Amino acid sequence: MTDINSLTYEQLNNVISKLGQPKFRAKQIFTWLHKNGVTSFDEMTNVSKALREKLCENYYISTCEIEDKYVSKIDDTVKYLFKLNDGEYIESVIMKYKYGYTICVSSQVGCKMGCTFCASTLAGFKRNLTSGEIEAQLHSAQRDLNIKISHIVLMGIGEPLDNFDNVINFLYNVNDENGLNISMRNITISTCGVVTRIYDLMKLNLQLTLTISLHAPNDEIRSNTMPINNKYKIDELLKACREYGLKTGRRVSFEYTLIKDVNDSSENALELASRLKGMNAHVNLIPVNDVKERRNVKSSKKAILNFQNILKKSGINATIRRTLGSDINASCGQLRRLKNRGEI
Ligand code: SAH
Repeated sequence: MTDINSLTYEQLNNVISKLGQPKFRAKQIFTWLHKNGVTSFDEMTNVSKALREKLCENYYISTCEIEDKYVSKIDDTVKYLFKLNDGEYIESVIMKYKYGYTICVSSQVGCKMGCTFCASTLAGFKRNLTSGEIEAQLHSAQRDLNIKISHIVLMGIGEPLDNFDNVINFLYNVNDENGLNISMRNITISTCGVVTRIYDLMKLNLQLTLTISLHAPNDEIRSNTMPINNKYKIDELLKACREYGLKTGRRVSFEYTLIKDVNDSSENALELASRLKGMNAHVNLIPVNDVKERRNVKSSKKAILNFQNILKKSGINATIRRTLGSDINASCGQLRRLKNRGEI
């Protein structure tokens, strides 16, 4: 059985024409799945019962059922714990900005990357999400909140570039004019730095934003906190980012989570600035979120401002990320872990 909402338009067209059906049927079904986000074949009211039954024999629609929902009292951020068809759990967060609603989606059930500060890795890696499952997070949230999501960030549980093909398929489907029609410019992929895949992504020349979870100014600190750095060193990663910027014409962003006494000194800021010099880069400084098992201590406000000032003085664009949903464990990975341990 395949989830039919993971097929591209072209693949769906082939399936429908092999069943001896006219082309417009594929468009109708694609629209039901990707624009309306239906969760059952029965909702496709303009498709004949015979065809719906035929499709049911080989296909199902992957869904995200709301298991838990938390609404922030501070800023209306909503966090979902979704249950997948096979009983696994993932998380998504909806944030309201002036320009619209943004969803932070998960790309895998768990994560293999092992970053020491991150909760997603703690409950272990289970499997990749299908393209349909990544998209179902949008449809479930839109339906529940009665909103239209305009922006997507792939910053939930998982490493998107470790699930490359399904993520790319998802991008094309949400971008499709018969689907959610979300512009590539409104989509951000966040990666811990899977360099070979950055080159693969570059070849597709998409107008999305690539953001790199850098979190360290040198290999020593980065290898201590992010195992991926043992495979691809910072120089190799930044070389790929420079090429990515030149090829796609898009500015590359860097995320830098500030952890007290680990990566937040003036010296660290100067070293980061020198590494990023000459690049069309933007640094997003993030105060580390508490994760119970991790014991990372947030940098002081003073240290964060000092870090930003040093970057700015060196000509590097740097902002401090506004924290949303701090009262609802909004940073990803925490709910799945608690659920698996029976704590929620
Ligand atoms: N695997 C991808 C996307 C998921 S993580 C990546 O590494 O980019 C999304 C972002 O949250 C990453 O920048 C990650 O490093 C950051 N993050 C993880 N745990 C965090 C924590 N405890 N506090 C602050 N940011 C964290």
